[in-house]
Amino acid sequence: MPIFRKNLITNDWVMFSPERKARPSDYKKPEEENRVDAFLNRPVMDENCPFCRGNEKDTDREILQIQGEGGWQVRILENKFASLDRTKVPDKNFSLMCKEMDGFGIHDVIIDHPQHNMALANMPVKNAVTLMEAYKKRYMQVCDDPNVKHVVVFKNQGYKAGGSLQHPHSQIYGLPLMPFETKVRLQQMENYHVIHDNCLMCDILKMELKEKKRIVYQNDCFIAVVPFASLSPYHTWIVPRKHHASFRECIDLEALADIMTNVCHMSFHALENPDYNFILQSLSHYERESEYFHWYFSVIYHMVRRGGIEFAGGLFSNPLMPEDAASHLLQHKKK
Ligand SMILES: [Zn+2]
Ligand SMILES: [Zn+2]
Repeated sequence: MPIFRKNLITNDWVMFSPERKARPSDYKKPEEENRVDAFLNRPVMDENCPFCRGNEKDTDREILQIQGEGGWQVRILENKFASLDRTKVPDKNFSLMCKEMDGFGIHDVIIDHPQHNMALANMPVKNAVTLMEAYKKRYMQVCDDPNVKHVVVFKNQGYKAGGSLQHPHSQIYGLPLMPFETKVRLQQMENYHVIHDNCLMCDILKMELKEKKRIVYQNDCFIAVVPFASLSPYHTWIVPRKHHASFRECIDLEALADIMTNVCHMSFHALENPDYNFILQSLSHYERESEYFHWYFSVIYHMVRRGGIEFAGGLFSNPLMPEDAASHLLQHKKK
């Protein structure tokens, strides 16, 4: 039976039509059946890949590196093809009808691992801890830039997710403004707090822990859940149990690496190396917002394409019930 559900964090209505595409196997395309093997059989090093260890260049503008066994473990570089200019100042030129601001911004690339065939899905947890440490270190640095108002850490994995280079990598933006979708989440959490005097995300976690139908992984510090009104199939939130407005406050990087690698492992096998984005939803600067904003990572898989109804006014259509998505992911837990 079709059903509408409201996503309280994004304020979106989602139209679930499970009869249209009930079986998770419908998302697999026959021609792509070997995507898992194709990834795992990649060479450890690719001589043409600018991100593989051994291919470092003098022209790389390196921001930081973290050492590991045999050399660097994670490197952060200025993005060669940055969409914004870090040397500018975000001067505003506003009139009533025309608002312009100089294109200041920080745009870095984070090389997740020295190997070409090592993604979060198959990465040893200790290497993922190093990656999370690099995220946090650079996140703090970018937040502290006086011209930066909002920082986003994200990953575009695969062509459909907007990825370009194959070598597993992440990106970080320091923006002189807060994007609209983040403002919506902030507003939603504030509205809820005004009425209920509680954090919306903390209350959602309580409900999910009680219902136990959509949780795909948990450890002492984090919970991964396919939300009650997920906007797209398998969409997963990774949420800290402790209430904080910002990733800046996160000290549980080992637990974060544990849940990241587990969630990526499940989806890698359940969805056969899917194209995905993950996005950090976190406030860089906050005072009173710290009472009601709760930071989290959102993982979005590109299993279905958006159609006219989504663009018609932001009504999301999801053929897969979150409970079914969660139980499919759980079949592929790490042994
Ligand atoms: Zn590479
Ligand atoms: Zn909270």
